Amino acid sequence: MTSVEETSVIIVGAGLSGLSTAVSLHKLEIPYIILEREDCIASLFNKKAYDRLHLHLAKQYCQLAHMPFPSNYPTYVSRNDFLKYLDDYASHFNIKPKFGNMHSTDFKSERRTRTRRSGGRKAVIRVDVTSFDSAFGGFTFGAT
Ligand SMILES: Cc1cc2nc3c(=O)[nH]c(=O)nc-3n(C[C@H](O)[C@H](O)[C@H](O)COP(=O)(O)OP(=O)(O)OC[C@H]3O[C@@H](n4cnc5c(N)ncnc54)[C@H](O)[C@@H]3O)c2cc1C
Repeated sequence: MTSVEETSVIIVGAGLSGLSTAVSLHKLEIPYIILEREDCIASLFNKKAYDRLHLHLAKQYCQLAHMPFPSNYPTYVSRNDFLKYLDDYASHFNIKPKFGNMHSTDFKSERRTRTRRSGGRKAVIRVDVTSFDSAFGGFTFGAT
């Protein structure tokens, strides 16, 4: 049976933007869920970056919201250290994306119309529905 989860904000994508957004919402005590189509956070750096990659901007320009890089990190952070930082970031703020969930990019098709009958009259309720039909959110934040 498909479970339906209701929340205030659905974040699409657990990359750098999605993770930062999650933490900012968490700080504001706004409930959210994150949908990620891959099976890991930061899939760009996890799956599509070469091993010897280093961030090409100095670390102070690349850290995510509310958690600086460790002070012992070099100015130009390696891919492995960056992935470690991102894992620590997700654990520290208890970010648990729902992996393997693809959000439809066709916003028109996501908007479903539900019709309810009440006292003989039709009431139309519009809701935002994700492509896998198990999350309802007041807002959708695309972080893809
Ligand atoms: C080689 C390289 C070096 C870089 N170096 C630096 C640097 O030194 N400093 C710096 O600040 N930036 C750097 N960048 C840029 C940085 O990586 C991007 O700005 C950053 O990744 C953007 O984050 P994002 O969360 O918006 O997107 P992404 O990191 O691309 O994350 C998007 C996530 O959304 C998921 N997704 C996409 N579509 C869907 C969907 N329909 N449903 C569900 N999930 C979906 C993806 O799987 C992905 O995990 C570099 C980029 C590259 C490629």
